[in-house]
Amino acid sequence: AKAQGRNRFNFFTPSMQEYAHFRMHLIQDLRLALERQEFSLFFQPIVELKSGDIHKAEVLLRWQHETRGYVSPADFIPVAEETGLILEIGAWVLEQAARQSKEWQQKHERIVQLSINKSPIQFRDEGEYFSRWMSLLKELQLGPGGICVEITEGLLLDAATGVSDKLLAYRDAGIQVALDDFGTGYSSLAYLKKFDIDYLKIDQSFIRNLVDDSSDHSLCEAIIVMAHKLGMKVIAEGVESEDQRELLRAMGCDYAQGYLFSRPMSAAEFEQEFLLDAKA
Ligand code: C2E
Ligand code: CA
Ligand code: CA
Ligand code: CA
Repeated sequence: AKAQGRNRFNFFTPSMQEYAHFRMHLIQDLRLALERQEFSLFFQPIVELKSGDIHKAEVLLRWQHETRGYVSPADFIPVAEETGLILEIGAWVLEQAARQSKEWQQKHERIVQLSINKSPIQFRDEGEYFSRWMSLLKELQLGPGGICVEITEGLLLDAATGVSDKLLAYRDAGIQVALDDFGTGYSSLAYLKKFDIDYLKIDQSFIRNLVDDSSDHSLCEAIIVMAHKLGMKVIAEGVESEDQRELLRAMGCDYAQGYLFSRPMSAAEFEQEFLLDAKA
């Protein structure tokens, strides 16, 4: 990048300058977001297809800034990763989720497994945050299966992350592991055998045209068969229609998540909708 520095200047258009400016402010606001308590967790139910029961939810981070309004994680997570802020933010998410899981367990006497997204950066660098979170889990005594961690495929190919040791530590602590966005990364099937993974989440890009596109249909079918043979359960992401749900259920897919069932919602709404009604 250094060698390119001067050439790059030629490409620096006003819109790029605006973007750099925008980005700088975004970073500043992101730095303050934690202390200003602008983050919150949303929850989206993960439905067991056979029974319709809900015993799981994915935790999705939300940022509400006083002037920006709602900022999408798709926009701020990459920036948080590049700046390293994801370590602190991610630690906050992990702690809040663990406490929420405990609260619901105590209040409703049932386990809602909370599935948390973990950035690859967290795996590489978190160090002290990791051990602190592990002691919190021990202290809370969530019991096995109270927490699931969602990681992405690329991470498993990167030998330097110490991911293997961490996954073992998870196992010991009763934390389950899901492989997120399955099928979109650098797929090497070897790691599925090598690592102890509990769930494959089929990316929503394969679900979108599932009903009309025969290759997506075959792909999903093959993923489900393979996952089951390897002792994993399958979660389909982005399920929006009744037809998709029916097809996935017929294929033997274990769980589904998507707008068909519910949008992500606040803890209070989730509790009202799925825990107090005892629908599941
Ligand atoms: P993801 O992990 O793949 O999360 C699923 C995304 O799909 C969520 O977007 C969710 O709101 C959306 N979604 C759920 N059902 C449907 C559906 O039926 N149709 C469609 N089109 N979309 C659906 P969201 O909440 O905007 O999050 C975007 C991404 O941001 C997540 O993708 C995840 O990669 C990242 N993210 C969110 N929260 C966290 C977090 O706490 N930590 C980290 N590291 N990343 C997070
Ligand atoms: Ca996810
Ligand atoms: Ca996903
Ligand atoms: Ca994604």
